[in-house]
Amino acid sequence: MVRRINLKRANVARSNTIRDINRQIILNYVREEGPISRADIAKITALQRSTVSLIVEELLNTGLIEEIYGESSGGRPPQLLSLKTSHAVAIGVDLGKKTTIVATTDLSGRLIEQEEFTTDKDFNKTIDRVIEIANHFKKKNGGSIEGIGMSLPGMVESWTGDVLLIPHLDWHRPKFAEIVRQATGLPVKIENDANAAALAELWFGRPEISNVRDFILVYITNGIGTGVVFDGQIYRGKGGVAGEFGHMTIGTGAPIACAAGSHNCWEAFASERAALARYANLTTAHSSNGKITFPELVSLAMKGDDKAVAALKETAHYIGIGISNLIQGLSPEVTVIAGTIVRAWLLINEEIKAAAQSAICQGYPSVNVMPSTLGSYPTLMGAFSLVLADKFASVTIT
Ligand SMILES: [Zn+2]
Repeated sequence: MVRRINLKRANVARSNTIRDINRQIILNYVREEGPISRADIAKITALQRSTVSLIVEELLNTGLIEEIYGESSGGRPPQLLSLKTSHAVAIGVDLGKKTTIVATTDLSGRLIEQEEFTTDKDFNKTIDRVIEIANHFKKKNGGSIEGIGMSLPGMVESWTGDVLLIPHLDWHRPKFAEIVRQATGLPVKIENDANAAALAELWFGRPEISNVRDFILVYITNGIGTGVVFDGQIYRGKGGVAGEFGHMTIGTGAPIACAAGSHNCWEAFASERAALARYANLTTAHSSNGKITFPELVSLAMKGDDKAVAALKETAHYIGIGISNLIQGLSPEVTVIAGTIVRAWLLINEEIKAAAQSAICQGYPSVNVMPSTLGSYPTLMGAFSLVLADKFASVTIT
């Protein structure tokens, strides 16, 4: 997987044998600091002007960057470099338990075009639709697509990219990468959804998260997934399946059972399903309208519906309890929450922090919890990152 080097600690490479590293470093400066001049790149990297010019020439020829004119301060306008963002370079597939999105992105992680469909429990039907849309995008973009990144709600073996299990769809060892690669002729990278979202925060998140070396992303859906970023990289553990904190024990008597049937897990207390069950318990005594979707519950709460607010706040309390365990065990700089529940951040924010703070024993760093900075599509951004991060690999500017 992609490793990022902290520039504060790394010396910029000067040897020809590591010209590729310099190329990635320069490309990353253009991505993060652009529009930027050749002279400024030379200044901050301490590379020779001639080396910078050579590499910039290469990047211009391969179509990764383009030259634009800056504002003139009297004389000739300065020539600046910026990422070429006019065309699609990657396809992202965000396979969700209910909806699957297939979309294209440019080099900067901007979403260009998307199609979505209801995820079919039949693996073959779902994968055929993914392939159909991916091939349509590939054809439409005339060879500029370089690869496919895929985020899915399951366990992924890190060194092979094989999917081991997607519990909520009951798919065992689906051969995603292989089938999509053969049918599209494009390289395919696959990652667990929470890890993919964490990777996207690292590469495309706002600086308050992307500049942090150690953070945990908690992805709340029907279940709870966590992506642990340790020293600027995803922590994978043996088999690549680390981060299953959704099944840590929080208490007894949760409102629902987790995917594995336990009423004691974090998922059973703090997932979207847990919030919906609380809302149903509060409403069914009075009406038959207990059954709604989670986005509907969030909308109701935002409109001030007492019972919806109560269901979300109680769920937020248990999100906070789980986070207190993560903080005590891993001491991250930031814990990031992603998922539809983030739309109700103003309602749940205090509840999460108060519960996390009160459950932490003395002597630990203070609680720093924030919502994802990736907008409505954290896992789709994660799918994009799987392809894009490779281009900028090796460097972070902090
Ligand atoms: Zn469980």
